[in-house]
Amino acid sequence: MNNLPTPLQRWDRASRARAAHQALLAHYGKPTWDAAEAAQEPLLDRLIRVVVAQNTSRANRARALERLQRRFPDPALIADAPLMALVDAIHPAGLANVKAPRLQAMMRQLLEATDGTLDLEFLHTAPLIEALEFLEGLAGIGPLSARLVMLFGVGRPVLPVNTGLLRVAIRVGMLPPQSSADRAHELLPAMLPSDDLYAFHLNMVRLARDNCHNSRPRCDNCPLAVICLWVHSA
Ligand code: SF4
Repeated sequence: MNNLPTPLQRWDRASRARAAHQALLAHYGKPTWDAAEAAQEPLLDRLIRVVVAQNTSRANRARALERLQRRFPDPALIADAPLMALVDAIHPAGLANVKAPRLQAMMRQLLEATDGTLDLEFLHTAPLIEALEFLEGLAGIGPLSARLVMLFGVGRPVLPVNTGLLRVAIRVGMLPPQSSADRAHELLPAMLPSDDLYAFHLNMVRLARDNCHNSRPRCDNCPLAVICLWVHSA
């Protein structure tokens, strides 16, 4: 931090987040949520995908979801399926013995919560906190997954914080060192305009992938290098 120009050292965390957001907008542009594109994957399908996709490759996830859809064309059937049939269906995704009971439990919860309709349209209009609590209460859905579904599937103003985004936010100085993702979920959204959270999420994740690697980040051509505490403290 010794090499950081004095005015930048004095910035508070929110100022740093807003400056980083503007720098990323200038560098990557402003991605916008597309309702029509989002509607191509129904919310129920998204939730099923989230549970099946954990810790697997894109190709294996696709195979597992295709087998699941073929064996259970009506997702409601998952709720009462023999567990071993479910394990076998999603086997290509790995950890099927863990994921299958979660998936079945989630479908049972959803059927009960929607009076058997599996209609999740209420997530578009429910108070944000209640919608997140509902999703986080489902088997297999954690805080990150709930926010991913809300941001990408529903277009609501939430900020999913994955490991890459968290790493950038801490290094730049938007969050205290050692902050957890849970803490970041609380702190970061309040620092930015709610309408910009979609663009901020995508641009931060992209920067983590392009430049801000866990080891040997490429700071030399990073658009946040000017304001980043980490690079100036190296
Ligand atoms: S300057 Fe380096 S440490 Fe800072 S955000 Fe960019 S890549 Fe990450």
